[in-house]
Amino acid sequence: MNDTDALVIGAGPAGASSAILLAKAGWRVVLVEQHVYPRQKVCGECVAAGNLELIDELGIGQRFQQLAGAELRQVGWMAARRTEIAKFPACTTGGYPYGRALGRDVFDSLLLERARSLGVRVIQPAKVRAVTGEVGQFECHIDQRFSSSEKVTTAIVVDAHGSWEEGPSFNLRHLDSRNHARVPHQSADLFAFKARFKGATLAPQLLSVFALKGGYGGIVVADDVTTLACCIRRDALRACRVQTGALAGIAVEALVRDSCSGVREALRGAQRCGPWISVGPLRPGIRLTARSGVFSVGNAAGETHPLIGEGITMALQSAKLLETILTQAPVATIDAERALILHRRYARAWTLNFAPRLRLASAYAHIAMRPFLALPMAAALRRWPSLLTHGARLAGKAQMAPFP
Ligand SMILES: Cc1cc2nc3c(=O)[nH]c(=O)nc-3n(C[C@H](O)[C@H](O)[C@H](O)COP(=O)(O)OP(=O)(O)OC[C@H]3O[C@@H](n4cnc5c(N)ncnc54)[C@H](O)[C@@H]3O)c2cc1C
Repeated sequence: MNDTDALVIGAGPAGASSAILLAKAGWRVVLVEQHVYPRQKVCGECVAAGNLELIDELGIGQRFQQLAGAELRQVGWMAARRTEIAKFPACTTGGYPYGRALGRDVFDSLLLERARSLGVRVIQPAKVRAVTGEVGQFECHIDQRFSSSEKVTTAIVVDAHGSWEEGPSFNLRHLDSRNHARVPHQSADLFAFKARFKGATLAPQLLSVFALKGGYGGIVVADDVTTLACCIRRDALRACRVQTGALAGIAVEALVRDSCSGVREALRGAQRCGPWISVGPLRPGIRLTARSGVFSVGNAAGETHPLIGEGITMALQSAKLLETILTQAPVATIDAERALILHRRYARAWTLNFAPRLRLASAYAHIAMRPFLALPMAAALRRWPSLLTHGARLAGKAQMAPFP
């Protein structure tokens, strides 16, 4: 008999919500997270309205409502000299019209604690180093930071390790057990940065995005502080570091303040809380691989350009999608053949729901990063600010996902 029915790698929003949903369905679940919580995470921290009913279902809705920032009723575009503001499109399905922002230190901890309260065994801080075996009897090799390593046997593996760190190695008995190849450095690689500020003067109901030469970002009030997060190409980052001679985060802050009067105004007199944190390179795209019995959720399955702020949506909703598909029959009935059928069903639904968002986010990001496209875009928004509302609606902000 296995130690558990499902072992989940990583306790970001995708992993923790998978653990919660599977535990609620009666599965025995082990959740492994390498970092001690609470921890900061590079993220714009906006949670779209279409997730809030699912957040209720996960069992943290009340705490989320108490702790999150104001309802985001306005969307903005901060150009070099002025900011265009329009109405955020209200979500027309579900009980919550507007999204809100909450620090990832708080959000991820709420989810993790909820998982623990449902009987999920949380192993933390610990890293899943390798997965071996096959569906029905995987062995997960776990390195614990403060005690000896451990081996957990499981029927199913949920890979929720994100996309910004190397995941565990998969040495599986059947089928595609390729591990991600290293991709050589490219000038277009994107690096992401985040800092939080106290005393900023951004309107609490405004979620604003901005364009940089070679990058883009967003700024919002999340709980009691203002979060600024952005992405910048490797070549643009190198240029701004050379120009300022400063550490990467400080150089990026200088570039953002210099490029964007709206950010400059909002942060005048504000104080940064803590250092800039960064990750990268980001590689937006779909990564669903058919490893029998290993199911990826969240960024491990696919990642959007962060400009549209839909990564948490995809994390939570892919977890829900997976749980719906996995729990239709008892876990003991999932053999290699059935696992592949379930994987195909999951991959089809995943692609249907999320691939259009990836393509749209990519188009928006490429416009924002290229001044010869961003400048006419800013001129068009000045004339027709409601384009911002339409752009957000197209990005899926006005509807809950149609499944399950
Ligand atoms: C600049 C920027 C701004 C963004 N803004 C927004 C936004 O406003 N709204 C939005 O919805 N999305 C936003 N996103 C996207 C969002 O942050 C991600 O999509 C989201 O974090 C994905 O969640 P996840 O659970 O898949 O992965 P993660 O949040 O990355 O969680 C993965 C977890 O797995 C753990 N882990 C990794 N490897 C192992 C291992 N081997 N063993 C154990 N644990 C492991 C990690 O420590 C981590 O906690 C933004 C992203 C960026 C870069």
